[in-house]
Amino acid sequence: MLGVLKGLGTTFRTMTRRPVTIQYPTIKREIPERERGYPLLLWDHEVGEPFCTGCHACERACPAQCISVVMKDNPLAAEGKSKRRKIVDKFLLDYGRCIRCRICVETCNFSAIAMNNTWDGHELSCYDRTCLVLDLEQLLAKSKAGEITPWVEP
Ligand code: SF4
Ligand code: SF4
Repeated sequence: MLGVLKGLGTTFRTMTRRPVTIQYPTIKREIPERERGYPLLLWDHEVGEPFCTGCHACERACPAQCISVVMKDNPLAAEGKSKRRKIVDKFLLDYGRCIRCRICVETCNFSAIAMNNTWDGHELSCYDRTCLVLDLEQLLAKSKAGEITPWVEP
């Protein structure tokens, strides 16, 4: 009998405690300000083109070999509207292989790539791994829309 009462006591105490879990995905925790998400590319709003020149430095430095870049001559430079003679043509980044090490960000001489610190990239589960390979437009979308929160340096 004493055991039953002790058990009930534990049950009632637990019932009145504040829950430690949340109803994800309806409710989402706030991401810590120094959270490192997946890398994405930044858009130069002044010129109207990506900061990325397609220089391949991040591609060579990436330890997971998940970046693939193609460079082209910049048509805006030919028109005198941009100082970048070369610009990125294609950029593929495989989030399925990325280890979020931030080496690409450190390597880039043009401040063209940054770690995302929003919820994007956390919820990319899919049945086909190819959906985790993001292209240039997908990688630029957040920056183009001005949705990246200011990065807090570690
Ligand atoms: S964060 Fe690391 S693994 Fe991911 S793309 Fe950049 S260099 Fe590669
Ligand atoms: S993100 Fe930076 S390092 Fe990578 S290709 Fe573009 S300019 Fe070069």
